[in-house]
Amino acid sequence: MSKALSPIPFFSAPREFQAHREEFLRAVETCAKGPTLILGEHVQTFEERFASSCGVPEAVGVANGTDAIALALKALEVGEGDEVITVANTAVPTVAAIRMAGATPVFIDIDPKSLLMDTTKVKAALTPKTKAILPVHLFGNPVPMQEILAIAQKKKLSVIEDCAQAYGGTLEGKPVGSFGDIACFSFYPTKNLGGWGDGGMCITKDAELASRIKSLRMYGYGKERIAEREGVNSRLDELQAAILLVKMQHFPEDFARKRAIALRYDAALQKSSLQSLQTTKNAEHGYHLYVVKAKDRPSTLRQFQEKGIAPLIHYEYPIHLMPAYAFLGYGKGSLPVTEEAAEHILSVPLYPYLTDEEVERVCECLRAS
Ligand SMILES: *Cc1c(COP(=O)(O)O)cnc(C)c1O
Repeated sequence: MSKALSPIPFFSAPREFQAHREEFLRAVETCAKGPTLILGEHVQTFEERFASSCGVPEAVGVANGTDAIALALKALEVGEGDEVITVANTAVPTVAAIRMAGATPVFIDIDPKSLLMDTTKVKAALTPKTKAILPVHLFGNPVPMQEILAIAQKKKLSVIEDCAQAYGGTLEGKPVGSFGDIACFSFYPTKNLGGWGDGGMCITKDAELASRIKSLRMYGYGKERIAEREGVNSRLDELQAAILLVKMQHFPEDFARKRAIALRYDAALQKSSLQSLQTTKNAEHGYHLYVVKAKDRPSTLRQFQEKGIAPLIHYEYPIHLMPAYAFLGYGKGSLPVTEEAAEHILSVPLYPYLTDEEVERVCECLRAS
């Protein structure tokens, strides 16, 4: 019998708070003193710094990552009757956002080695109704964008990058999010750059698109408080922006720590029956989630659980098989690579505030599997 080990949490917000407690509290106080509690200087400063960190001129803060995608589609005039090519192995919000915009998701299968959109399958999915391609940089691993961009240019389609899991990742030396017409980020607490609640961001090189998203996030207002288009309320909170500004300052060291942990996991997998996923060529992984494939997942999960590690599964149910999306008409067997992967993947804890001892325990489990 192994001795009882303290459980390793999959994610820990309190550890991060403790690490930078004074800075966080100062940020909250500054925020509370105002003068503006909605769309004030914290949001503006955060938008500017975020845009610049992604190498683009424009960033618009919104209420969450789902809204970021829905508003991006609306700004690009993708809606009712239009098709958006994406994948079914993603977080539900990707697909929920396409539906919020009124458009129809068209799922294509994934590459078996990376589990990212199989870009060779885009062409065959095109129809006269196709209006946009929405690749997901899943787990932080950048989707190779070349073929997607070439098809989009030729067919005059929009490209929206779902960067919710990939802040910090790069492709061909450029930050993810700087390739498409608009890229969307989430500040959900567990993401690479996470707030103390919900938040999201759209980035773009196009000032006109940015101004449309700014209008859409605030009741469709134009310059005066007159609605020029039908908008919603989807603003990024000042308080979240203030917290995110603190986190952003520490992002380089946090990201470096996460990367170092991921590299130790990579090394541990050399002596394991577990299979790692292939990182895209010429890319720097964004290291949101550390995902491996297990031949016999139930037994691997048991081995981890015995050591106080509870892996999660991202994602156990491909979206095309979920009841809400049955009406789209994809049955079992329609996306074989996606469905096969879902039965074998598991994610182990990966965040900067894991202790060295915890990292070693995860490594031991990876080696022993
Ligand atoms: C987190 C996430 C989103 C957005 O989620 P919100 O909870 O709305 O911020 C979108 N796409 C993917 C792939 C995600 O992981």
